[in-house]
Amino acid sequence: MASEAGPISKVLIVVAMQTEAMPLVSKFKLVEAPAHESTFPKGAPWVRYHGNYKDLHIDLVLPGKDAVFGVDSVGTVSAALVTSFSIQTLKPDLIINAGTAGGFKAKGASIGDVFLASDVAFHDRRIPIPVFDMYGTGARKTFTAPNILKELNLKVGKLSTGDSLDMSPHDEEVILSNDATIKDMEGAAVAYVADMFSTPAIFVKAVTDIVDGEKPTSEEFLQNLIAVTAALDLAVTRVVEFISGKSISDL
Ligand code: SAH
Repeated sequence: MASEAGPISKVLIVVAMQTEAMPLVSKFKLVEAPAHESTFPKGAPWVRYHGNYKDLHIDLVLPGKDAVFGVDSVGTVSAALVTSFSIQTLKPDLIINAGTAGGFKAKGASIGDVFLASDVAFHDRRIPIPVFDMYGTGARKTFTAPNILKELNLKVGKLSTGDSLDMSPHDEEVILSNDATIKDMEGAAVAYVADMFSTPAIFVKAVTDIVDGEKPTSEEFLQNLIAVTAALDLAVTRVVEFISGKSISDL
């Protein structure tokens, strides 16, 4: 791992879905690591693309397809597993968790906005016992990257994570109490693992659907996924360009 002062050399991009990953794979001309070269344990469906971009080595990992249902393994468990193993084997200097998210218009989010998360929390871990309640749904600060924010003109907001695409009234209560602007299914899990291994992580999230709007979330999500993924791709590219040649303390 690079010291705080040395230039960043290894970046790990963690994404949840194939659709989110492919534009970045082609943008950075990454190639899939063949099975015999894989640092991942046998049987894990995780996928890794890698390559060099300017002076950076980029690894892009995704949890891959569910073995039973064949869909992208979205959600916290898969995200935590692939992040954990990737940190231990690839030893990144910085993690970028890039993905789509729902946004709250009451908090100023619009479709296509790209946010950098300032805080993360889970909203579906209700444990009404003192201190466990805070462990369950309390917000944690993320690594701050004021210069990325300023330079790239991204929006900043609090991110709330849970294992459902929809939102129950219980989830809504927690999300509101944490003052969150965006909602996803992986961010807080990636943050937990990154913190565990003292690896700085930033969360770049593009809004595919308005949670407090009229349209059903899944419909709106699917309608906007491709266009918003392009916005996400552009923002991540700009973040990577910015990072190149800099040290962690420059971010
Ligand atoms: N692959 C499925 C659905 C993916 S689930 C399909 O194509 O229908 C949604 C993914 O997008 C998750 O990885 C999640 O992090 C993110 N996401 C987008 N909008 C969200 C919202 N409103 N709430 C939670 N997660 C959201």
